[in-house]
Amino acid sequence: MLMLPKFPQTKGKKTIAVLTSGGDAPGMNAAIRAVVRYGLSQGSEVYGITKGYSGLLEGEIHPLKASSVANIIQRGGTILKTDRCLSFYKKEVRREAANILMRKGIDGLVVIGGDGSFTGAHLLEKETGFPTIGIPGTIDNDIAETDDTIGFDTAVNTAIDAIDRIRDTASSHDRIFLVEVMGRSSGFIGLQVGVGGGAETIVVPERHESFSKIVKTIERGVKRGKTSSIIVVAEGHKPGLSQKMAENLSRRGYIAKVCILGHTQRGGSPTAHDRMLASFLGASAVAYLLSGKSNAMVGVKSDKIILVPFKKVIGVKKQLPRELLSMAQLLAT
Ligand code: ADP
Repeated sequence: MLMLPKFPQTKGKKTIAVLTSGGDAPGMNAAIRAVVRYGLSQGSEVYGITKGYSGLLEGEIHPLKASSVANIIQRGGTILKTDRCLSFYKKEVRREAANILMRKGIDGLVVIGGDGSFTGAHLLEKETGFPTIGIPGTIDNDIAETDDTIGFDTAVNTAIDAIDRIRDTASSHDRIFLVEVMGRSSGFIGLQVGVGGGAETIVVPERHESFSKIVKTIERGVKRGKTSSIIVVAEGHKPGLSQKMAENLSRRGYIAKVCILGHTQRGGSPTAHDRMLASFLGASAVAYLLSGKSNAMVGVKSDKIILVPFKKVIGVKKQLPRELLSMAQLLAT
């Protein structure tokens, strides 16, 4: 169970705004709801900014009431919409963003997103002094200094559900199935889905396993009488890795089918875990912001909600626990 920190004293009533940025993740709505409801409970005014940093620059800033966030806790995606805003990479554009916020009478900004969105928030505060705070929302769980991110648990469960279905076909037809999951530079989804889905082999970007080793694993299984296999493949930097592997396997006489789960992993109703995580991170982010803390992200370490400076988070590679990966492989073979 998550433990809340002892919140520091709130310093006066502040007006705050919230936006979602970068890739969407299930549970972002639960976080928005918590930001709004906790902020209002502390006497703050809360604004919602639509379409991330793009919407901010276009002045898409609207007041939110408690009822504005009713009936959204169970919904995937983000009611505030999200966007990738290329102009936010420019210093003068970030200055303009701070001016827009200040003209609206806003004192602090809550950014729900990933590493890129946090970089934007960090630079905004560093260059203009405008207070920002981040809530980690990404299905990849690839943000440093936090054990968990909003949307990861839901994405993993969605993928495992798909694998359970694929396994029925794989075993009926005696086939090898390569199931490609999300994760360009990080294998957190791959590892968790591989273990939970009982995959025979897990291919993640962090482990540079040779193709011949993967084939040997499959062959070992065949010798033991296995007639079907599920291989979980994190997409890696080059999409279509699973397709290439299937072609290679077919040249060696195996029939291998490919299923790329793609964006199905992003959507859907958040799990109870993600709703809890989003709710408590949302409330904590506001509590910290109202007490004068900023330029930081709220996160989770050993079930405790923590505050970490953006500087310790941004651009830092979160390491996949090697021992879990080795154990996963051991249990699979
Ligand atoms: P995520 O937040 O999920 O990592 P992105 O990397 O796409 O997603 O970043 C989302 C948005 O954050 C970008 O479109 C941009 O507006 C802003 N952003 C990302 N990186 C930077 C940066 N280096 N400087 C300023 N803004 C950035």
